[in-house]
Amino acid sequence: MGKHLTSIGDLENWEVEKIFEYAEEFLERGGNGELKGRVVINVFFENSTRTRSSFEMAAKKLGAEVINLDVERSSTSKGETLFDTAANLDAMGPDAIVVRHRWAGVPELLSKYLRHSVIINGGDGAHQHPTQALLDLFTLRRKWGDVKGKKIAIVGDIRNSRVANSDIELLTRFGVEVTLVGPPQFLPQLPLPKSYKLEEVLDKVDGVIALRTQTERHHSPTFASLHDFAVLYQINGEKLKGRSIVILHPGPVNRNVELSDEVVEGENSLILEQVKNGVAVRMGILKYLLEG
Ligand code: ASP
Repeated sequence: MGKHLTSIGDLENWEVEKIFEYAEEFLERGGNGELKGRVVINVFFENSTRTRSSFEMAAKKLGAEVINLDVERSSTSKGETLFDTAANLDAMGPDAIVVRHRWAGVPELLSKYLRHSVIINGGDGAHQHPTQALLDLFTLRRKWGDVKGKKIAIVGDIRNSRVANSDIELLTRFGVEVTLVGPPQFLPQLPLPKSYKLEEVLDKVDGVIALRTQTERHHSPTFASLHDFAVLYQINGEKLKGRSIVILHPGPVNRNVELSDEVVEGENSLILEQVKNGVAVRMGILKYLLEG
């Protein structure tokens, strides 16, 4: 059994480099049956478009079989505990289980009960989304080469974002200078530069990671409306004003809230590059975790 990936801290920098080396190769020449005969189960207890299909695509491109567990019809909805569901899946002998859950810590807890399979965190609550951070760093590296000393602003609902947690940790480990931007109620207590004023920060950064407002995790309204958020924090053509800042977003984008249409589709946008690279990076992750 290989190594679990429940949080970005599970990987040392040299392991990240190895995964990126594989991903570069896969981007160039595609998969070649590296995981033939292996089985990956996707268990997504929370909605997903990109992450789930990206893992499915990645596994299939490597020749593995993929089972997508239909959570609505699974036995957890009949009262089976999450642990029993996981232990039963594990007993069938898959090589990897990709799990997403709205509770922070579920992938790590489950990893302790599995005997055969490797757990990969596909996003847990507001805690971690390690594969997103890997594909974000990979995308920046392909754009810039070395990322050391580059300046990135993460803009939006950072406090409730698992993407932000994993990105902050990984990007700073590789020397990126991260500034957190948003209204006070969206900013976490972290020892990093913070700003409430997007325009000021745009003068100083090389790139922006924009985030969706995670309303599903808000217990009470934190902003009068998404429109009010957009007035202050939307990145649009006017605010970019010919700057060459690159724009990333993990998706799903709420168009004309965090990013205007023209920015989503504009030349600064790396959003579809992220999606494309996401498959290659997840191929690299599967190969690394299952084969070393
Ligand atoms: N797709 C990302 C996630 O699963 C970001 C988002 O949902 O806004 O965390």
